[in-house]
Amino acid sequence: MKIGIDLGGSHIAVGLVNDNYEIIQKKSYYMSENNSNSYENYIIESIVKGINEILLNEKLEMNQISAIGIATPGNPKDGCINNLFNLKIEKFNIVEELRKSFGENTLTVPIILENDGKCAGIAEKYKGNLKDYDDCVFICIGTGIGGAAFINNQFLKPKRNSGFEFGHMIIHKNGEQCNCGNKGCFEAYCSKRKFKEKMQEILGIQGYICARDLTKKINENMENEKVRILLDEYIDNLTIGISNIINILEPEAISIGGSMSSYEELIINRLKEKINNGKYLFNKDNPPKILTAKCGNDAGIIGAVIATNMNEM
Ligand SMILES: [Zn+2]
Repeated sequence: MKIGIDLGGSHIAVGLVNDNYEIIQKKSYYMSENNSNSYENYIIESIVKGINEILLNEKLEMNQISAIGIATPGNPKDGCINNLFNLKIEKFNIVEELRKSFGENTLTVPIILENDGKCAGIAEKYKGNLKDYDDCVFICIGTGIGGAAFINNQFLKPKRNSGFEFGHMIIHKNGEQCNCGNKGCFEAYCSKRKFKEKMQEILGIQGYICARDLTKKINENMENEKVRILLDEYIDNLTIGISNIINILEPEAISIGGSMSSYEELIINRLKEKINNGKYLFNKDNPPKILTAKCGNDAGIIGAVIATNMNEM
C-alpha cells in the first residue's frame, strides 16, 4: 500500500493506493477552507490528518505504507516545492516538514515529489489511454501547458531539471508575453486559460462558466466572425506546438489531459483533424493517434504513487 498526494493551487487530495494502482480511499481538503494558517502549515496539517484518518479507517499502521508520492505544480527538487505563486509559497521543504510531523514512524518511508503534469502523464501511461503505446506523449493543457514523454516504455527524465516544458517552446518570435519571462511561448497562446479569457471577452461572459456551457455558447455564436477566427487561430497554434512535439519525439499516440479534456468536441476533435492533415508535420503519412485523457481527477494521486517506483529505479 502506498499514499498518493495531489497538491494543487486550490486543493489537497490524499489517497491510499493498492498495488494495482487503484484508490482505496481518498480525502480532500480545500485551500479556501484555510482561515488563519499559513498555506505551508495548512498543507502539512491536511496531509497528516488525511493519512491518519485513512489509516484508522482501513485499520492500517504507518509501517504498512511503503512509500508516499506527492504531485505538485512547478519543478520540485530536493524535497522542496517551489514557486507556488497563488499560495504565496516560494520554497518549502515539504518532505522535511512531513517527516517532522509524523515523528520517528515515517522516517524510513521514501517520500517522492514529482511535477503534477508528469504525474498525470504517468497515470495515463500506466492506467489510462496510453497503456498500449510504447512511444507516447501526454500533454496537460490547463492554466499552463506541461506533460510527459515515454520512449520504448521509459519515462524520460533528464538529470538537471525536470524538462519537457512543452508550454515554453517558443512558437512566435517576439510574440505574446509569457509568465516565464520569455515571449511567444506555446502556453502564452494555447493554455486553456488563454482561450477561455479571450473567448469570454468576445462573447461578453464575465466570471466562471463551465466547459459545457462555454462550448454551447460558442456553437451558438459560430456566425460571429470574431468567434470563428479565435477558434481557428487557437486550433492552428495548438497544431503548430503539438506538431513540433511530434516531429521531435515521433510518438505513436498523444493524450491530451488537464482541463482541456472537457473540450473534446469543440477543440480536441478539430485539433485531431488538423494534425491528420499533416500541414506542420515532417512525416505527413502517419500522424500519431490523438486521444483525450481518461484518468481525470485521480491522475495526480495515481501518478505520484507510480512515480515512487520509478524513482527507486
Ligand atoms: Zn514561457
